[in-house]
Amino acid sequence: MKKVEIKPNNVSIDRINEKCLNCGMCKKTCEKINGLEGDCINCGQCVLTCPSGALIPKFDYKKVLNYINDTDYTVVAFTAPAVRVAIGDEFGFASGAFLEGKMVSALKNIGFDYVFDTTFGADLTIMEEANELVGRLKHKQKPLFTSCCPSWVLYMEKYHSEDLNLVSTCKSPISMEASMIKSYFSEMYDIPKEKIITVSIAPCTSKKNERVIHPETDVSLTTRELAMMIRETNIDFKNLKDAEFDALMGSSSSSGLIFGTSGGVTEAVLRTAYYMINGKMAPPKFYDLEEIRGEENIKTTTVDLGKYYLRVAAVNTIKIASENYEKLKTFDFVEVMACPGGCIGGAGQPLSAIKDMLEIRNKRRESMYNMDRVAQNREAYKNPKVQDAYISYLSKNDIDLHTEYYAKKSIKS
Ligand code: SF4
Repeated sequence: MKKVEIKPNNVSIDRINEKCLNCGMCKKTCEKINGLEGDCINCGQCVLTCPSGALIPKFDYKKVLNYINDTDYTVVAFTAPAVRVAIGDEFGFASGAFLEGKMVSALKNIGFDYVFDTTFGADLTIMEEANELVGRLKHKQKPLFTSCCPSWVLYMEKYHSEDLNLVSTCKSPISMEASMIKSYFSEMYDIPKEKIITVSIAPCTSKKNERVIHPETDVSLTTRELAMMIRETNIDFKNLKDAEFDALMGSSSSSGLIFGTSGGVTEAVLRTAYYMINGKMAPPKFYDLEEIRGEENIKTTTVDLGKYYLRVAAVNTIKIASENYEKLKTFDFVEVMACPGGCIGGAGQPLSAIKDMLEIRNKRRESMYNMDRVAQNREAYKNPKVQDAYISYLSKNDIDLHTEYYAKKSIKS
């Protein structure tokens, strides 16, 4: 078989058979990026290189438009960091244009009742994961593997179930945010959670599968689907006035923002872990960790956390993680993202010519780090909305921001 198999129950990816050229490009991409012999982990990278558009993300946006038209529901959107630096590609902006204000405005014009920022969920993830890291360092348990990429988590469940204790128990930023919308937001705004529809907008096809496991997210859409909704509701995106996220979960640190690029989770977690250990802001190196930024296969560095000296690694793609698995276990903290360059290169992002993909990802990354450089608040622990949430709600209520993992069948088992 020249092409990758898309099973009928695949919730992330679809194939329009009439368009398929049987060229085998999807299979080549899967082998190059995942190396899993066609065992789908929902990353969807095959979608980005299919020359005929036969492979597409599963489109779920019509469901959302129906919910919006049903006055019985409060429909809440929340947007992942990498969407705002990619949505402009669909509307003639320069690659990497930072269009947060227009994106929020578009969502409000489409009819969402509230629009929150998933970087709030990322800041929560940083707090929880940094805490977990510090706990493990105290007990000399290493490494800690990140858990925000659902394709990486699925790979671990399928191929290294003996090591699931190494994976952070933190839910992904999207699942944390959705849990908070169905609890914190529901209580604060006195809206029954059964009447709230949570709609995540992400660069990612794998999140469509994650929501099956974590149904606190009702629908997971891609950046491409956001563009489709904008067109279908006749919004003039280019000329939209900027709007702001709704306040309760709208403000974030730039640590939450850089989650969208490979190495960003590591940098963000280390800034907060340093503070947790030393009670003061981390030194400048933690705000410019060049060694772990970018698209090299495995990027490594060492950092001094005061009491602990850490070896950290940030890995681009499952294939590289899989080939270097035993070596990665010798590090203290390991971030793995399935998509090249991290979520900025996710399969739900706008399509482009294959020859331009690296350059476009570079522009998106640059855009995020530029915002980080000038941000007033670069640490999750300083985010006032996160502080409020812990003091007024999370300390008094049992909201599960953590999860468990289970061994799953791989193609080889
Ligand atoms: Fe999704 Fe990001 Fe993982 Fe790609 S790297 S599968 S976009 S979470």
